[in-house]
Amino acid sequence: MKIYDKLFIDGRWETPTAKATIDVIDPFSEIACGRVPAGTDADVDRAVTAARRAFAVWSAVPPVERAAVIGRIAEAVTARRDEIGQTISRELGMPIKWATRIQATVPAMTMAAYAEIGARPPQEDHFDNVRVVREPVGVCAFITPWNYPLHQIAGKVAPALAAGCTMVVKPSSEAPLNAFLLAEIMADAGLPPGVFNLVTGAGQVVGEALCRHPEVDLISFTGSTAAGRRIGELAARSIKRVTLELGGKSANLLLDDADLEKAVPHGIKDIFLNSGQTCSALSRMLVPANRQQEIIALARASAARVKVGDPSDTANYMGPLISDRQRDKVRAYIRKGLAEGATLVCGGETPPEGLAQGYFVAPTIFADVTPEMTIAREEIFGPVLSIMPYKDETEAVKIANDSIYGLAGAVWSGDPERALRVARRLRTGQVAINGGAFHPQAPFGGYKQSGHGREFGPYGLQEFLEIKALLT
Ligand code: NAD
Repeated sequence: MKIYDKLFIDGRWETPTAKATIDVIDPFSEIACGRVPAGTDADVDRAVTAARRAFAVWSAVPPVERAAVIGRIAEAVTARRDEIGQTISRELGMPIKWATRIQATVPAMTMAAYAEIGARPPQEDHFDNVRVVREPVGVCAFITPWNYPLHQIAGKVAPALAAGCTMVVKPSSEAPLNAFLLAEIMADAGLPPGVFNLVTGAGQVVGEALCRHPEVDLISFTGSTAAGRRIGELAARSIKRVTLELGGKSANLLLDDADLEKAVPHGIKDIFLNSGQTCSALSRMLVPANRQQEIIALARASAARVKVGDPSDTANYMGPLISDRQRDKVRAYIRKGLAEGATLVCGGETPPEGLAQGYFVAPTIFADVTPEMTIAREEIFGPVLSIMPYKDETEAVKIANDSIYGLAGAVWSGDPERALRVARRLRTGQVAINGGAFHPQAPFGGYKQSGHGREFGPYGLQEFLEIKALLT
């Protein structure tokens, strides 16, 4: 049991103003594996005040020196990679091999990328008598979810540090332990006090206090569309800048000339990664109607190879869901899929064999899913794939875009030019073509109700910069 009883404020570990705590539940054992403070409005105020004071200092540090600090943070995250992987595997339930490979390694890559990006001189533009300069936005509040917890924190903290901003981080209450490891790293990185602050607690308390605080200039939020809407409303009252990275219902469009032997297993690995708790998960597989049966057979065989079980076993690909609440939500969607007439290919409501303990849901695939069914429209955030038949390319694109979300997508075709053409027609922030690999510096963010703003790489830095025109 990992117990943290202090918050990181103004460069020190501070006693919270209230005694309340939050238990972190290990979703495999269903027993508490950690405890963190439940922060209050007063803690938020202390942290924001410290960040405001530190802004005058940190924004004046030359970018190349700020970048050097980020470089040290990247090295420290890399050095503690195994510990970070184990911590996240435990609190989230993602199998250790993948937690280390993704949850611990990608944040280190993000930090390293911003050590490089931040070292370049800030962009200036000139025309006629106009000189355009970029300046840090100010004090930022970061509100993050549990599914890729440190990745999402790093995607905000690293560019903010590079830009010269200061910050208060409020991680999710389900998986906050990794944020304390980062705070320990920050404490040793040589940052001026108050640049980085950590306040844990409930979204409705700590999160909302950050959104209302007059000294916060920018809110960057990753999480559900419902919470994003609330945050946007609160932030609007004091006209804060808001970046929102929200939900998704991404389409994996298999065109009629796709290499199915490759595309189908790839899609299966994607949807079951992290038990389907990935905002960009390819949760709708769009398939030519006349090949649906062939694709079902390939999908069923692929899903049967997904090893589900104890997250500490390196052989497993899929662990439990984050919480009993999330499991209940996913089960309700499975019932809805059956009730609305989708064909169950594998999985379902019953937990996988031998896994009655832990918040497990079996890898589940539905076929014959039509665009109006609930499982085709709503984000399930669990290991549930909807196979949706289409008759031609025009209808496939129409179905893909028929969503309130627009976060990600994928296209498969034997003809790369055709794949590119179709990818351009998808109204989403990212599209992977023929299995195009994840890149930690590719801009990431949504169209439509998947949010606004972009994170990662040089585009992510822009979110933390104001543009100023100097007229001479
Ligand atoms: P959530 O919205 O419940 O919580 C996210 C964070 O917001 C948590 O820290 C929570 O405490 C806080 N919060 C909740 N209500 C709040 C409020 N009223 N005011 C301020 N803060 C509040 O989401 P979750 O369940 O932790 O994460 C799952 C969701 O996140 C999914 O919908 C998923 O698609 C989305 N997500 C999106 C991305 C992306 O980049 N687009 C990435 C990961 C997750």
